[in-house]
Amino acid sequence: ATPTAVMVGTGVGASKGVLIKGGQALESAYKVNCIVFDKTGTLTKGKPVVVNTRLLRTMALREFYELVAAAEVNSEHPLAKAIVEYAKKFLEDEENPTWPEAQDFNSITGHGVKAIVGNKELIVGNKSLMLEENIVVPVDAEEILAETEGLAQTGILVAIDRKLVGVVAISDPLKPSAAEVISILKSMNVRSIMVTGDNWGTANSIAKEVGIDTVIAEAKPEHKAERVKELQAEGYIVAMVGDGINDSPALVAADVGMAIGAGTDIAIEAADIVLMKSYLEDVITAIDLSRKTFSRIR
Ligand code: ADP
Ligand code: MG
Repeated sequence: ATPTAVMVGTGVGASKGVLIKGGQALESAYKVNCIVFDKTGTLTKGKPVVVNTRLLRTMALREFYELVAAAEVNSEHPLAKAIVEYAKKFLEDEENPTWPEAQDFNSITGHGVKAIVGNKELIVGNKSLMLEENIVVPVDAEEILAETEGLAQTGILVAIDRKLVGVVAISDPLKPSAAEVISILKSMNVRSIMVTGDNWGTANSIAKEVGIDTVIAEAKPEHKAERVKELQAEGYIVAMVGDGINDSPALVAADVGMAIGAGTDIAIEAADIVLMKSYLEDVITAIDLSRKTFSRIR
């Protein structure tokens, strides 16, 4: 493509809210035949909400949520925020939520949190956290988890004084356009893959809903980037679409990194293309634009 064509291409992109950082990004987008999508905040809305509470022993929901919120209020994780938000409805004064003070708060990245609340020990997180902590996960809890994950929800396990007492089901619905975007990409001969730090059960359910058949779950940030490199070694020209700090290494590793505009600054900096309006369909806009720019001249 001539420099003028590239300028026109990036200009059209900008007018549509697709910020392309230079001609190289546009040229790479032209060759993309595989896209790796982050799940949370990219394919999903990224605004998780508590949809169900399953207690394994008799306990007032109010007491349960007071303890869980006291532990989770110290965490920045979106799942923690969803739990704290939901817990407010059990308080007398919803407007001015106050939780018991937590001591010895510990955040275990990608797994959950631990804290002492009053005289109780709280462990809140995924199954691997419980296993690491030697907390017994009874069969009925396993069943609840499987059910929750089958519904494309994330089940957060709660242990009080080292006994598993409940499962909090959290839903983060797909963006309305997600399934259509994946299906259009398929028709454009672009393969779609999903990566997430979430568990395999939930990840597979979400992938099925959106029409993606290749999933990588329970992935740490470095796994996301490694997977991108493996796909490149297989001969794919890879785009990564993500919104989080933990997507940044993969955004950099990809031939084209695309950041969701509503995402974190670190992801936006790491990306070659920024979808300013945060519309998932702008992934297609970017590829279309690059194809128009580069095929015209060939
Ligand atoms: P994601 O890529 O979905 O944001 P993370 O790697 O941040 O995933 O977390 C992976 C999993 O660890 C979550 O799905 C959840 O089960 C558990 N987890 C992480 N942080 C918390 C927390 N503050 N409270 C409860 N569970 C958590
Ligand atoms: Mg994300």
